[in-house]
Amino acid sequence: MGPVRVLFEGRYRKFVRDLPQTVFYCPRCKGRGCNHCEGFGKLTKDSVQELIARVAMPRFKARRNKFHGAGREDMDVRMLGSGRLFVFEMQKAKRPDVDLEELAAEINRRADHRIEVFDLKLCDRKRVVEVKESHCAKEYQARVRMDGVVDAAEIDARLQALQAGPRLDLVQQTPQRVAHRRADKERHRWLQLRHWQRDGKDWLVNLLSQHGTYIKEAISGDGGRTRPSLSELLGVPCQCVELDVWNILPAASEDA
Ligand SMILES: [Zn+2]
Repeated sequence: MGPVRVLFEGRYRKFVRDLPQTVFYCPRCKGRGCNHCEGFGKLTKDSVQELIARVAMPRFKARRNKFHGAGREDMDVRMLGSGRLFVFEMQKAKRPDVDLEELAAEINRRADHRIEVFDLKLCDRKRVVEVKESHCAKEYQARVRMDGVVDAAEIDARLQALQAGPRLDLVQQTPQRVAHRRADKERHRWLQLRHWQRDGKDWLVNLLSQHGTYIKEAISGDGGRTRPSLSELLGVPCQCVELDVWNILPAASEDA
């Protein structure tokens, strides 16, 4: 039998804030190598994709790979909870029968606590579309920093009112930071404040949100491009200084 296409699916958790999901090609040279990327063609040494590929490719004796995630988090956002679903696709694998449990163990050992993969199993190409199009609500934890001197008791009271109130319907214009690569359009998304706690001068805020919500902008307001925002509702300019995907809920939990 000649080389074949092999796909496996699984879930990953990501415990660091400097790791993109897929190969981060240099935007100036598109991977060819230039001064901006010091000739490497990419802007980070690693990605979730490469930490998997480095172990999987030699075992499967495969040539090329693609990584299909069920959505993606920003590079500086940790992916916790029950992890994110993905499909890892290899073209021209010369040795398709690999022990996936051993593979996961070795990926995790070499990743050295940066990522963890689990529940690996072989799948077919239909899963790529299913995984990429699965829309799930997510819980986030955001470290929110407020501008200037704030009355902490007053902030707590406003957060309490938000938590007790109905979920928020947001209108989000494509954020400035991604406007160069995404169509500029308006999205309607919902958000619900779950709970929060003070942590030094910050607030750790847990939010439940509809798939595709831009959380950093839902907090800052993005110069009025997301309305309402936490900044607007609290009456204080807020920034999201750290963000974790706390959990991805099962697909059935998503409202239309
Ligand atoms: Zn470059």
